[in-house]
Amino acid sequence: MNNIQELLITRKNTLREALSILNNSGQGLLLLQDQQGQFEQTVTDGDLRRLLLSEVGLDDNLSKLPKIDSIVLREFYTNAQALELMNQQKIGQIPVLDQQGSIIKVIERKDVGEQILLSTPHMGESERVYVEEAFATNWIAPVGPNIDAFEKELAQLVGVGHAAALNSGTAAIHLALLVLGIKRDDLVFCSTFTFAASANPIVYQGAEPVFIDSEYDSWNMCPVALKRAFVGAEQKGKLPKAVIIVNLYGQSANIDELKTICDSYDVPIIEDAAESLGASYKGKPSGTFGKLGIYSFNGNKIITTSSGGMLVSDDETLVKKARFLSTQAREPVLHYEHEEIGYNYRMSNILAGVGRGQLQVLQARVEARRGVFLQYKQSLSDIEAIKWMPEPDWSYSNRWLSTFTLDAGLAPLTSTEVIAGLGKESIEARPLWKPMHCQKVYAGSRYYKAADESVSDKLFETGLCLPSGSNMDQSQVDRVIAVLRKLLIKA
Ligand SMILES: *Cc1c(COP(=O)(O)O)cnc(C)c1O
Repeated sequence: MNNIQELLITRKNTLREALSILNNSGQGLLLLQDQQGQFEQTVTDGDLRRLLLSEVGLDDNLSKLPKIDSIVLREFYTNAQALELMNQQKIGQIPVLDQQGSIIKVIERKDVGEQILLSTPHMGESERVYVEEAFATNWIAPVGPNIDAFEKELAQLVGVGHAAALNSGTAAIHLALLVLGIKRDDLVFCSTFTFAASANPIVYQGAEPVFIDSEYDSWNMCPVALKRAFVGAEQKGKLPKAVIIVNLYGQSANIDELKTICDSYDVPIIEDAAESLGASYKGKPSGTFGKLGIYSFNGNKIITTSSGGMLVSDDETLVKKARFLSTQAREPVLHYEHEEIGYNYRMSNILAGVGRGQLQVLQARVEARRGVFLQYKQSLSDIEAIKWMPEPDWSYSNRWLSTFTLDAGLAPLTSTEVIAGLGKESIEARPLWKPMHCQKVYAGSRYYKAADESVSDKLFETGLCLPSGSNMDQSQVDRVIAVLRKLLIKA
């Protein structure tokens, strides 16, 4: 908190003035100084209310405010001391005084480095070994043994024929479209409820996205909306060239029903499993149901190579073509010969080393994230306003992020207010993905709803994601639960 000037009052201020300053600052705290500019004490909303009840009038000054010893820190405190004091006193803000007793600033939890983040990297034991091997053998390039091994190991893990390691999940989606021959003015159907990276590569190709709504059962693409989109496209005389089905927050979409519809029109599926590595649908690994599937290893995903992606398919020709395009489309001759436009999308051999180590701990990471989710769900089961993201019978989710929507009729706060409330306690929470058909950049794109009501709009309006990292410790999970209880249970 930098602007302490806005929080300063003296005993000459009236109660009305104090209340107004408190209201305008939104900080829940005032700083009382004496005539010499020395800090006296902090003043809260509760202190002012008690003063009102003790018959001090709104236009009386604060001379009757009882003296208390406020918790303060002196200049040159350490973050650890500050944190210990906050925990011990169960407070979130502490004034810091200089040697003369004047106030310098007010610190909050987030200022002392105790933020609980949504999803952070979680390294295992062997990543370094593979990276050091890359250094020792000088394979510091987008080519090398870690890349080949990472591709083979991932393909084996998910049970797919072939894999190409790339420098992002977005690159994997772009290459999937390229190898399927998507070009200018083609149509591509895509889940609307997703991150923009699912849809942007459609535009890279000059093709036109058509967005499809979600269903409540899985939050992913709705078969009814997909069918309506196909019927609509058929009536206009132009079918899509591909359908991008996204598996959000670690959960597979309703694959059989969606695939039956796509197969009946003979249109290939690209499965965006960026968030769902380690999850499965009816026991089969997520990402392996389409003509092509993609994974992401961005820093916030369930396993990470800091940045990276993988394209998978049982069709060797498509994967070979993708690898060729990802390395500048160099023809296999001695000199630099090009017959096609290529891309620089290959993963580096160093990062593939990180990926190999991460693959070994994937199952442990899935179990840890499911464990975090289960604790939230069980500990907050009495709060009826919370509707957790469902997990249908056919789904085994990796619970990449623990997410819920709030029932407006039962909750004392909106999801935006809950996010702000968590933020005040240094807990990072975010809204759910804002649907693509609501994005300015996709204004004017065609959109097929599930029914009269748009499910994805409703999810976005009422939902949020909680910290869900596999490396959260028990005290962090407990703190998120405690703050949610405080926010969502009205005494
Ligand atoms: C993260 C993500 C991507 C993009 O992956 P990058 O590796 O960040 O390029 C694509 N789709 C979804 C659903 C994602 O969450």
